[in-house]
Amino acid sequence: MESEKYDIVIIGAGPIGLACGIEAQKAGFSYVIIEKGCLVNSIFNYPQNMTFFSTSDKLEIGDVPFISHQPKPNRQEALEYYRRVCSSWKLNVRLYEKVSDVQPESTGHKIITDKASYRATSLILALGFYDRPYLLNIPGESLLKVKHYYDEPHPYFGQHIVVVGAANSAVDAALETWRKGAFVTMVIRENEIRPSVKYWSRPDIINRIADGSIKAYFNSALTNITQNDVEIQTLDGAITLKNDFVLAMTGYQPPFEFMEAMGISFNDDEYRTPMYDVDTMQSNVPNLYLAGVVCGGLKTNKWFIENSRVHAELIIGHLKSKK
Ligand SMILES: Cc1cc2nc3c(=O)[nH]c(=O)nc-3n(C[C@H](O)[C@H](O)[C@H](O)COP(=O)(O)OP(=O)(O)OC[C@H]3O[C@@H](n4cnc5c(N)ncnc54)[C@H](O)[C@@H]3O)c2cc1C
Repeated sequence: MESEKYDIVIIGAGPIGLACGIEAQKAGFSYVIIEKGCLVNSIFNYPQNMTFFSTSDKLEIGDVPFISHQPKPNRQEALEYYRRVCSSWKLNVRLYEKVSDVQPESTGHKIITDKASYRATSLILALGFYDRPYLLNIPGESLLKVKHYYDEPHPYFGQHIVVVGAANSAVDAALETWRKGAFVTMVIRENEIRPSVKYWSRPDIINRIADGSIKAYFNSALTNITQNDVEIQTLDGAITLKNDFVLAMTGYQPPFEFMEAMGISFNDDEYRTPMYDVDTMQSNVPNLYLAGVVCGGLKTNKWFIENSRVHAELIIGHLKSKK
C-alpha cells in the first residue's frame, strides 16, 4: 500500500500534539496527528477524580475557551474540552494507531504504524511520558494486585493497601483511598512528603500521617511482595505487613529507545534531556521536532500543558520560516 504524504506528521494526540496540529492547519501545512490510544490518551488514564493544578484558561489551546465549573478543572471537563477542540478545528487525527518505526529518507521521514505508513517532510514527536512506569524491580511486582496506575478508590474499600511514593500521585491516591475506607500505609524513600506536592494536599497528608490515620514509613523501601503480605525495609529494620494491594506511584519515563532509534541525542545530564534548539524545538535530527512533556527527559515535572503549549507555535513558526 502506498504511503500517505504530508508536510508534517505529529505523533501523539495529547494536548500538545493537538496544539501542533492546530498551528499546522492555521499555517496551511498538510498534516496528520497519529495517536496509539484514544484522544488525549494520557489524560483519559489519569485518576477519575483528579483535579488539575492549573486553572482552565492555562490549559486552553487553539483559542477555544475552556469553561469549567470550578477554577481548576477536573479530568472529565478536560476530556470534554479537548474533544471540543478537536471537533471545532476539525483536526486530522488517526486514533488507535501506534507508530512503531520512523525511518530517515532523503525527503524527510517514513513513519510506519500498525495500520499504515506515511511520508512527511517534518515530524513532530509529542509522545508524552505516561506509558512507561518506573518499576520497583522487586519480587512479586508482577502480581495482579500491584498497580502502577491509580484509577478510583472504590476497589480498595476495606483493603490493606501500600502506596509507594511521596509525590502528587501517591499523596492523592493515599488520601482518596483512606477517605473511602482503605487501610493505608505509605512507603517513602525520602524523609518527607515532597515539597512540590499541591499546596492544598500537602498539609492534609502531613496531618493524616501525624494523627495516625495513614501510616507512613519514611527513609524506607518495599523489598518483597507476596499474595498476602509485603516486606518493607525501614530505618528500624525489616517488617512484614498484611497487604491486599500495592499502588506503586513511582512516576513514569519517556520512551527513550524509540527516540534513540530515530537518531535523537541526549544530553549527558542526570535527566537524559533530549537535545533540541530551545528557539525552534528542532532536535539534532533535521526536520524532527520535540514538543510537550517529552522535552524534559526524566525531569517529567519540568514541562506541562501550561508551559509547553507554546512549543506548537515555535515549531510551526520555524517551519513557516523555511517555506
Ligand atoms: C495527575 C496529573 C495531573 C496533571 N495536572 C496538570 C495541570 O494541572 N496542568 C498542566 O499544565 N499539566 C498537568 N499535568 C501534566 C499534563 O497532563 C501533561 O503535561 C500533558 O498531558 C502533556 O501533554 P503532551 O501532549 O506533551 O503529552 P501526553 O498528553 O502524554 O500525550 C502524548 C500522547 O502520545 C501518544 N503516543 C505515545 N507514543 C506513541 C506512539 N508510538 N504512537 C502513537 N501515539 C503515541 C500517547 O498515547 C499520548 O496520548 C498533569 C499530569 C498528571 C499525571
